[in-house]
Amino acid sequence: MNESSRKRPLDGSARKSALRLMPSVQECVDALAAEESAGALSREHLVGVVRGAQSSLRERMAEGALPAPPSREAMREAVLQMARARLREDRPAWRPVINATGVVIHTNLGRAPLAEAAIEAAAQAARSPINLEYDLAAGHRGDRDSLVEKELRVLCGAQAATAVNNNAAALLLALNSIAEGREVIVSRGELIEIGGSFRLPEIMLKSGVRLREVGTTNRTHPADYAGAIGPDTALLLKVHPSNYRVVGFTAEVGLAELCELGRRHGVPVMEDLGAGALIDLRPLGLVHEPVVRDRIAAGADLVCFSGDKLLGGPQAGLLVGRGDLIERIKANPLKRALRCGKLTLAALSATLRLYLHAADLRQSLPTLRLLTRSVAELLAMAERAQAVLADRLGADFAVAIARATSEVGSGAMPGNELPTVVLQITHREYSAERVAAFFRGAEPPVIGRIKDDVFQLDLRTIEDPACLAITLPQA
Ligand SMILES: *Cc1c(COP(=O)(O)O)cnc(C)c1O
Repeated sequence: MNESSRKRPLDGSARKSALRLMPSVQECVDALAAEESAGALSREHLVGVVRGAQSSLRERMAEGALPAPPSREAMREAVLQMARARLREDRPAWRPVINATGVVIHTNLGRAPLAEAAIEAAAQAARSPINLEYDLAAGHRGDRDSLVEKELRVLCGAQAATAVNNNAAALLLALNSIAEGREVIVSRGELIEIGGSFRLPEIMLKSGVRLREVGTTNRTHPADYAGAIGPDTALLLKVHPSNYRVVGFTAEVGLAELCELGRRHGVPVMEDLGAGALIDLRPLGLVHEPVVRDRIAAGADLVCFSGDKLLGGPQAGLLVGRGDLIERIKANPLKRALRCGKLTLAALSATLRLYLHAADLRQSLPTLRLLTRSVAELLAMAERAQAVLADRLGADFAVAIARATSEVGSGAMPGNELPTVVLQITHREYSAERVAAFFRGAEPPVIGRIKDDVFQLDLRTIEDPACLAITLPQA
């Protein structure tokens, strides 16, 4: 068919005869329902998809954008093809992506990858009823925190523990439970903002406490806290500067000293530890990150931290510390609004138990495994990754192996850069931004980073180079 006949709209009689070729909705739905990809879909849904495909075909034929199929058979195939395309395009909003940013704890990509044991536990809890809030010995209602409390107590050396939806919720809940309507003292050097609109003063306001700032941005002394403590002081709050460092002419009051001050005045001390490492990470070759157990040992009455940062578990906020304070927190009606679901608690329990029992924690826990991969290990897989990718990309792209550094992510270990290996991807014409967009459009989408105007895939967060056998987007 030549161009001119293709673009000409069908006239009245041609349109009528083309429409007579249109198969019935029922016939198309039956055909689709017999196919594997659509067999599990409801007839109502398939009817809607077929109707949509038919009307779009009619429209495009009427406009002359599409030639009228020559036979009934061809018309039927055209409808089915369009319906299949619509079914393929109707995907969930979430998708697996390849994290090639090198950022192991990437908040925008879902933070910590879970351990197999945690995935297994969540799947089991999803499939089956569990004793979520049921005391099996007594045969009556129980406390869902008991699913993780023993492990948290042992790992943190704390009297009691509770878990909520995330660390922001843990902080909100603790402040509201312990200091509502009263004063909480915080150093000006610790009034943090972290990504995703978490600002400490705003959380404090919403929790119903009054913020009493002391000291200056770079220096706060014991006398600053002491001078601010009064009859209305309910809590001294210390916040770990997760995503920044105050350097130069600085002074902060150490936790032990602050706890000493709190004890003298009968005021509890709480620390928001952010990433909250459960073990000392220095033996694994990482920089020091404060360990929850040490903070409890130093005298903190309460410590809160995230479940899905360095801990390497599911999204959760954990609160550990003095039994009487945890009791007050659990009794707060807000706890009910912020509690974890059973999938989270099952995955969290499995993750915590790895810390207690795993023969090789570094191997079992993906977060630690990825953070501690050596340059030698990454170099050993780089050529394979390069070959897999080059094979997909063709001659317009160049893929080179280079050394670089990766960040830990989520404000953990700020400024600590891990030596890594990257694939640098360049294109004959495309800018780095265009290459990045091209990779985001692949299936599965690949998220890399741009450094010095070159698009890079950081191999730290890629364990199996075979995953780079991606389907490229239409250029
Ligand atoms: C990350 C972080 C939070 C927030 O934790 P989420 O689990 O993301 O809610 C709060 N405080 C500090 C210091 C943090 O680093």
